[in-house]
Amino acid sequence: SETSDQLAAFFQSGIYRFSNCAVSVVFMDPVRVLNRSYSRFRVSPSTYYSRFFSSNLAADFAHRETELSSSSKKRKRKEKKPPLLNEREQAADQRHQLARPLLLKAHECLIGASELLGILRSLSCDSSSMAERRKPTVVETEPSFVELGKVWQAPLYEIALKFPRSCRSNENEGDIVDQCCDPGLVPVFNNLVVNETGDEVEAEFLSRKYVIPLESCFYMSDLGKIQNLIPADSGSGFNLILIDPPWENASAHQKLMYPTLPNRYFLSLPIKKLVHSDGALVGLWVTNWERLRNFVLEELFPSWGVTYAASLFWLKVKADGSLTSDLDLFHHRPYECLLLAYCNTKSGMGGTMEDQVVISIPGDYSRKPPVGELLQKYVPGVGPPRCIELFAREMMAGWASWGNEPLHFQDSHYFLLN
Ligand code: SAM
Repeated sequence: SETSDQLAAFFQSGIYRFSNCAVSVVFMDPVRVLNRSYSRFRVSPSTYYSRFFSSNLAADFAHRETELSSSSKKRKRKEKKPPLLNEREQAADQRHQLARPLLLKAHECLIGASELLGILRSLSCDSSSMAERRKPTVVETEPSFVELGKVWQAPLYEIALKFPRSCRSNENEGDIVDQCCDPGLVPVFNNLVVNETGDEVEAEFLSRKYVIPLESCFYMSDLGKIQNLIPADSGSGFNLILIDPPWENASAHQKLMYPTLPNRYFLSLPIKKLVHSDGALVGLWVTNWERLRNFVLEELFPSWGVTYAASLFWLKVKADGSLTSDLDLFHHRPYECLLLAYCNTKSGMGGTMEDQVVISIPGDYSRKPPVGELLQKYVPGVGPPRCIELFAREMMAGWASWGNEPLHFQDSHYFLLN
């Protein structure tokens, strides 16, 4: 039947396409999408979804309860004196009212897809057999790449990439050492670290293991070194550039998770110089903060030389399919927005894109769903698209990742062995 075909396709690809849905909407399981970057490993669903399932559920509930009670207190206070929206809040509300019908329609599509809803809860299960589980790494504190990258010794830190080249055994030594790989030692900071092979590669850094997807690379540095990514000729520039900046107006909680930068710093991102001669599609994650929207559309995009084309909304749901918060909650919307823009495209591209919705269950704080593949059809250029993520915390097969912690989610404790 059609529905079981759709579900089968979803289990394969991680992307569920709704039939009979008038708007452009998909449901995504980021774990399955990411898993297409790996063969010997797979992303651990229980670790990816730790926030909305399992042990943290209680904590999340508690958090929500306090949030609700404090907002109801606020509401009570406000009820006495009805708030007048200032100009900016009115603009924000107008923007929300424009997006609302599309988001409601998208959510209706999900609620109507009972066979999909039926399996949502199982998405966080690692596997039926515990034997398959990789022995959990002792989760000692992970190194903070952000902090290590700042110390004077940073240039001395090296990462060992275990390329499967030669197979030697170390029989002379008492204990058996797995030496089936040839470790290549390379500087981990301010250096392009490349896995050109068609297989994922294990890497070791400060006694922790990392998984590097096939045909991927990362450059781990501070913003000051981003110039080093500019290609020698624009023919080797990028066709798809995804950017998730550490905007300063993030919530207090997020502020503890990673450092942020004032908006004007992003004006200096050399977007035009990173763009391929065939042009590029640029995707920029923004918050629902009106002041930020205005800055992006009025200052940032013009300074980057990009032209706004459409929006991709990420609608966040819980494991039961309900929205993570009330759609109309002013300061806590259950959606985020990726602004899509073109840079230097030849005629023909630019006008045809429509707004779309990706629904998923959120992972870690601020972790975005891997939407790159959904955008491929809008990417300009003739060859296989060259893709880069800026301010990345993870890597993908075929992609370049830049940021001050692109290895963060590559730590082996986020993975299971196949
Ligand atoms: N898209 C990511 C994800 O889905 O997990 C989240 C990116 S997060 C919003 C922004 C990232 O920018 C964080 O990893 C943060 O450490 C990094 N960052 C902050 N300041 C930076 C700087 N000066 N140079 C480079 N990266 C920076």
